[in-house]
Amino acid sequence: MTEEAAPPLDLRGISKSFGGVAALRDVDFVLRAGEIHGLVGENGAGKSTLMKIIAGLHGQYDGRMAIDGRPVHFRSPREALAAGIGMVHQELSVVPDLTVAENVYLGQQPTKGGIVDWRAMMDGARRHLADLGIDVDPNARMGSLAIGLQQLIELARVLFSGARIVILDEPTSALSPPEVQRLFEVLRGVRASGRSIVFISHFLDDVLAIADTVTIFRNGRLIATEAAGTVDKGWLIQRMIGRGHEELEGSYTGAIALDSRPDAPVVLDVRGLSVGRAFADVSLDVRAGEVLGIYGFMGCGLIELARTLFGKLKADAGTMSIGGKSLRPRSTAEACRAGIAFVPESRRSMLFHTEPVYKNMSISVLGRIGRLLLRPSVEKDIARQHVQSLSIRPPTVETLLGSLSGGNQQKVALAKWLTWPPKVLVLSEPTRGMDVGAKEDVVRIVKGLREQGMGVVVLSTEPETVLSLADRIVVMKKGRIVREFAGETVSKDQLLEAA
Ligand code: ADP
Ligand code: MG
Repeated sequence: MTEEAAPPLDLRGISKSFGGVAALRDVDFVLRAGEIHGLVGENGAGKSTLMKIIAGLHGQYDGRMAIDGRPVHFRSPREALAAGIGMVHQELSVVPDLTVAENVYLGQQPTKGGIVDWRAMMDGARRHLADLGIDVDPNARMGSLAIGLQQLIELARVLFSGARIVILDEPTSALSPPEVQRLFEVLRGVRASGRSIVFISHFLDDVLAIADTVTIFRNGRLIATEAAGTVDKGWLIQRMIGRGHEELEGSYTGAIALDSRPDAPVVLDVRGLSVGRAFADVSLDVRAGEVLGIYGFMGCGLIELARTLFGKLKADAGTMSIGGKSLRPRSTAEACRAGIAFVPESRRSMLFHTEPVYKNMSISVLGRIGRLLLRPSVEKDIARQHVQSLSIRPPTVETLLGSLSGGNQQKVALAKWLTWPPKVLVLSEPTRGMDVGAKEDVVRIVKGLREQGMGVVVLSTEPETVLSLADRIVVMKKGRIVREFAGETVSKDQLLEAA
């Protein structure tokens, strides 16, 4: 009988909960020597949680882990690194004010007579970076380099500190296509040296291009592991979202029929809008009484686009017009005066938690309607109608906003636009973190706003949200609009496929 070497990493029956809610259920995961292993799954599927267990960030879990056949249980990233496991997180942890060499050697600078041996450090860093095929001056200040290069240097540091297993959690979200190619070249070199890589990404094309093996997670479970060469994007998507769509919510079934309104006047017209690295050449229009959905993965530029429409970020190029009047908002106040209202993904920042519900339904629009409404009796009357028609709980206008649930807060945030409709309403992640009931209420409110003739833009990384609200959908990918769905039937698979 031949004895096979134990795999570098072998996990059996891993389960993990947060506050009683299961994030991982009975997962078996094996990483082999010299492989690039892609991990895919929708947001919240459990990918990062499993990787954090491996990298020592979550010490508490059920199940067994072995490195080269030896049982281990890490309680800190330091212990994991000592055993050869390193992780590059999506948020870089480089030090921008230090040089490249200092970042590579972070915490382990060579010393001579008690002081840092600068020359040894520069030479060592230069050699190490050259070995990895990374072309950069070790003397350069980290903060002056492009993000893609900074990420490669962070990877270099993890390898330099002895990692034989490297985990990259969504490394390509913020990278340009040439930067992705450069990262892939470095990863192929790492693989050729016999080390193993876990590569997590929403970009299935990227995963299929670089990975040898691919594993799909859904709802805390490991669904399948296959050789990447034997599967395609459609196969992955089917497993990511579940074959029978059995986990989808009631607001749509499988596919929705889009209903666009080509005859209504354009209320928002955007041409060639660009902002730094965030997005480029975005053109779109929204008609009165239409909900335009913009869908994309985290990091695709959605959030920045929403902020630019509302005057929070300044566009480098492009034009915008509202109701036919051209506009280049330099402040949110200016955007608001021109007729754009914005409800951001962090509703906290737009609401007043220590004020009662009725104040929150009028406060931000006082400037537009004058003194009259400062009379609390009028404010309360209007608020009472909304509280009733939107079934806000508890059903009183005196409740302090901060004591309401997230879903009810969102209803309050939306309610004021029913009384004082703007021309265009921009909603970023309007149903994030809500239960099904609250989501349905939000859908109802947005449809009501649309009936009033408002143009609504819904930006979301959740396909269900866009599908349940939009009359027309555009898909954004790495800062560009890549696809439009209008006057046809569209399913969740198609959205994921396009992104
Ligand atoms: P993925 O990386 O696949 O998007 P995660 O592993 O981050 O998914 O999350 C899996 C589940 O665990 C989600 O429901 C998420 O909300 C939950 N979760 C992750 N980290 C924490 C945490 N620190 N506290 C509470 N819940 C968490
Ligand atoms: Mg994650």
